Amino acid sequence: MFPNTVIIDRSRIKKLRKQEEERFVAERPRSSELLIQANKCMPHGVPMSWMASLFDHQPIFSTEGEGAYFIDVDGHRYLDMGQSDLSTICGFTPAPVVKAVTQQMSKGCQFLTPCEAAISVANELAERFSKPQWQFTLSASSANAEAIRVARRATGRETILLFDGKYHGHLDDTLVVSRNGKVEPLTEGLSSLASKNVRIVQYNDLNAVEAVLKQEPVACVIVEPVLTNVGIITPDPGFHQGLWELTRAHGAVLIHDETHTHAFAFGGLTNKWSLNADIVTLGKNFAGGVAIGAYGMSEGIANVFSKESDTDGTTYTTSALTGGTLFGNVLSLTAADAALKQVMTKSAYSHITKLGGMLADGIEAIVQDRNLPWSVQRMYCRSGVTYAPNLPRTAEEAFLSADAELNGVQRIYQANRGVWEAVSSAGPAISFPMVSDDIELYLKVYADFLDELLLGESTDG
Ligand code: PMP
Repeated sequence: MFPNTVIIDRSRIKKLRKQEEERFVAERPRSSELLIQANKCMPHGVPMSWMASLFDHQPIFSTEGEGAYFIDVDGHRYLDMGQSDLSTICGFTPAPVVKAVTQQMSKGCQFLTPCEAAISVANELAERFSKPQWQFTLSASSANAEAIRVARRATGRETILLFDGKYHGHLDDTLVVSRNGKVEPLTEGLSSLASKNVRIVQYNDLNAVEAVLKQEPVACVIVEPVLTNVGIITPDPGFHQGLWELTRAHGAVLIHDETHTHAFAFGGLTNKWSLNADIVTLGKNFAGGVAIGAYGMSEGIANVFSKESDTDGTTYTTSALTGGTLFGNVLSLTAADAALKQVMTKSAYSHITKLGGMLADGIEAIVQDRNLPWSVQRMYCRSGVTYAPNLPRTAEEAFLSADAELNGVQRIYQANRGVWEAVSSAGPAISFPMVSDDIELYLKVYADFLDELLLGESTDG
């Protein structure tokens, strides 16, 4: 079943790649010019290095966006099917967020005191994710870093257990990989000490989880409700309940990373599938594109924050060291309040789920019409293609069926025709402002792409 069953002539992929790359660069003179300037003041000409590798072609410089579309400095307009890695699922200009943030900005954006919006957002998330206690950060990475710290504080243990194919953010603890059974830092520059405290097993393998939990004291297990960074990998029936029971039996904290899956369902998959966890982490998208992160905890876990006062009762410290100067700022919380209550509503999620079904059906029809032995991922608003007849159950299987070269040429072909789908490990997804015409545009370009590859015929100019 695996490895991949791409039956397309490799030389055709390479030829199309060259042709599309030349067109991409030729049609973007202003971005090329800016890249020369940017290279003089930033490594690879980008403000964060991930942007250099993210697109598999030279970066473009963007100017503005509206709804589900954005525009680059050369005037090209793109339908964003990746939503800036699921951070702009509310679209580029969600009206209630624009209004709330504009008003708040004119009244002050940072006080380093609590604000009323914090209470409102915490209560809204508490309701959606069934977690009574919340803390805020400015990214999902920071939410995960603090969740791990809280779990370590709660258990007095150090080891964390992750699943192969995971991504939980920009922290040494989780930027690790298992090579020949040994957990190592993903790249140079990361702490080798951090990786010593990490174990990695395959998704859907409860026996492997149990073996680790039996072997040593584990502080926490971190898992996504579905794996989202190796295409989509769904849990076997009983997988999450099994994790819940095993972590209960062995005294480990269970953390659900809903950073991406919050885009798929109202209240995330925690709510949709009635999942149990001690901590839920969020980020990226619930402030309408404004930087934010958060984690929700059970009352028991939140006890690690219990206040301790000194003998005269005047000085308070909390026993968990978390927080940052701009974390929980009024601007991000005001944005989150507007996004959650006025954009990320139940009916808006029904809308993207319906369009997500159309997208997956359309992709499936295109693949089947061309007799390609591939399978189609379906996860509410998100879809994707696995280059194998069956969907993978583990990251090992997903890696075997992956095809970076094919994904790369698809991305650049689409970009040349106004469809932006950046991250190669993620399939297309629907954002709240999209309408069915947007899905049709995506499907047309995807069908044209495959025809050009398979038949060698150009269907457009
Ligand atoms: N968790 C998951 C599941 C993610 O996919 C990501 C980013 N792709 C993160 C956490 C970290 O998000 P950020 O880079 O915004 O901190």
